[in-house]
Amino acid sequence: MSRKILVTSALPYANGSIHLGHLVEYIQTDIWVRYQKMQGNECHYVCADDTHGTPIMLRAEKEGITPEQLIDRVWHEHKADFDGFHVEFDHYGSTNSNETREFAERIYLRLRDEARLIEKRSIEQFYDPVKQMFLPDRFIKGECPKCHAKDQYGDNCEACGATYAPTELINPYSAVSGAQPERRNSDHYFFRLSDPRCQEFLRGWTTSGSLQPEAANKMQEWLGGEGENKLSDWDISRDAPYFGFKIPGTEDKYFYVWLDAPVGYMGSFRQLCSLPSPAGGRGAGGEGVPIDFDAFWDKEKAAQEKTELYHFIGKDILYFHALFWPAMLQNAGFRTPTKLFAHGFLTVNGEKMSKSRGTFITAKSYIDHIKNTEYLRYYYAAKLNGTMEDTDLNLDDFVTKVNSDLVGKYINIVSRCASILNKYFSGVVLAENPQALVASRGYSMIAYGSDEEIKELFESREFGKATREIMRLVDLINQRIDQDKPWNIAKDPSKHAELHLLISDCINAFRIITYYMAPILPETARRVAELLTLPYPLKWVDLDRPITQINPYQHLMIRLDPKLIEAMVAANQESLKPMPESHSQQRHAEHQQHAIAPVAETISIDDFSKVDLRVAKIVNAEHVEGAEKLLKLTLDIGEAQPRTVFAGIKSAYDPEKLKGRMTVMVANLAPRKMKFGLSEGMVLAASGEAPGLFILSPDEGAQPGMRIK
Ligand SMILES: [Zn+2]
Repeated sequence: MSRKILVTSALPYANGSIHLGHLVEYIQTDIWVRYQKMQGNECHYVCADDTHGTPIMLRAEKEGITPEQLIDRVWHEHKADFDGFHVEFDHYGSTNSNETREFAERIYLRLRDEARLIEKRSIEQFYDPVKQMFLPDRFIKGECPKCHAKDQYGDNCEACGATYAPTELINPYSAVSGAQPERRNSDHYFFRLSDPRCQEFLRGWTTSGSLQPEAANKMQEWLGGEGENKLSDWDISRDAPYFGFKIPGTEDKYFYVWLDAPVGYMGSFRQLCSLPSPAGGRGAGGEGVPIDFDAFWDKEKAAQEKTELYHFIGKDILYFHALFWPAMLQNAGFRTPTKLFAHGFLTVNGEKMSKSRGTFITAKSYIDHIKNTEYLRYYYAAKLNGTMEDTDLNLDDFVTKVNSDLVGKYINIVSRCASILNKYFSGVVLAENPQALVASRGYSMIAYGSDEEIKELFESREFGKATREIMRLVDLINQRIDQDKPWNIAKDPSKHAELHLLISDCINAFRIITYYMAPILPETARRVAELLTLPYPLKWVDLDRPITQINPYQHLMIRLDPKLIEAMVAANQESLKPMPESHSQQRHAEHQQHAIAPVAETISIDDFSKVDLRVAKIVNAEHVEGAEKLLKLTLDIGEAQPRTVFAGIKSAYDPEKLKGRMTVMVANLAPRKMKFGLSEGMVLAASGEAPGLFILSPDEGAQPGMRIK
């Protein structure tokens, strides 16, 4: 009996591009789904863009478009990337849908009114008085309370790695407006994950085989021992202004990500269930019969129908998917996931993906440069297993492996045999039964031999082991071809009957290998199906159905040129400058690594004229007690009162020699409260890779207060 399976991948956020790190998950999921479909199982693969939240709202505002316009544009970009990598969703939706809204509200109301697990509490948060909004942690910056590094985010310090609450930052400011944030109280809604009912349920669920062993262990740590209560309640609300779904019964509160993103799995599947079923049907009912949503999500119906639900996720969102999500579903009358499949992160050449090294590669950039996306599908498959280990994309190894395994071995079988079959036998394949073929040469038998093992490996997501086993078979087949030398046999017309049998067997072996490869290389499999006149889409049950005719051979795959990789890496290094806002973190880190920073983004004359530069006379300069780097400067820029500026130039200048000198200052920089007093501007100085620090001077004749334009 065929299984009924629903599969999801994590929802990508609509604020950035899909990159090679994301693709580990989508390719992994897609391979597994394609395998299930080949087995004849009813398998539905859904996903959606995660579209709500403050970053989307602010980015749209910055671009001068509506959030709906922004997420529509990004949806098309994401979809094109997935299509390019042959990631074939049965439905790719958006969390900004009526279906998702309906389920978010239904879950919330059931949790509130039936399970009584929703609680309203007042919490204190930072509020931006200029922008008139509460600030998420990532939108508050300030000085690290531990190491005093400046311009750190509200949740952790990039300089020393400390984590803290945004309220601990020294001199916090809003990254949105630059204003000093105020603390304000606001009512928030919490899901009471700490409730004993949730704890008890999760103790059972997390140890019932729903998680990989390493994930289950992690959850026991997070849950604590019997009697311990380590779970805290989850804030599921945000204040207006916000781009998202309004919480029922409120005027200005919105569902935060926890209560709308994963609900997008349900919303997207609901949309699939209402789409017209294609020829051959989608669900159990066959053509024209829609899929039954409740069979997959309703607690009782799902149990009756034995439907399965799998979430493929990164290990970073495990806590949420293994604790919060099942507890929420359980208490709202929905089914819980059958299993979570968590994977690790991607490293490139053994290191974190990096923009400065050119290894932060977007899906689009890969498609533009390399074109053949099956190379990467194969390489990822060869590296993946069922654990949460990280996956490394070694770019040299990538070229070697693709060229050796795919072109040099797998495709090599058919390119050697198809031409002989076409040249001497008009492409006719002897349709002997497999047993007769075994008796002759045994090519197909080699390929058949590992059918069960390969199935098992695909099922358990041991794709690395599966590809190794497939390649072992391919090696054996190639060795036998080398021994048999069909091209020599072809020279002797009296041996053509023998040759025909041998080549037919060999082509059938290649056919079987192609079935094994099909979940990983769907496009190549489609073209092989054309060449070998196979029933398509490929189904595992056709594995022992020999073919009778092939079409003229056309090249199936070319070698991967390492120059393409070099060009791709170089292009990603070049695209350093126009970086999207969301990657400012990486941008910051890179500038620290490179003494010579790349020239900054192009600005307009209007941007430049916002900076008010003035000629300043240094009236006084003195040391500051306790400051290692600072001098206290008193600057005359023609105002009634001189300005005080703390400048980090102590290492380069003797204060006595600065007195009376003219220099240049930024006069309209927001005043900054420092440990030693208020700094009312900034003095300009040049520095580079070579040691030294050099303040600027205007030419003779310039007067204090003159504007520099
Ligand atoms: Zn720090």
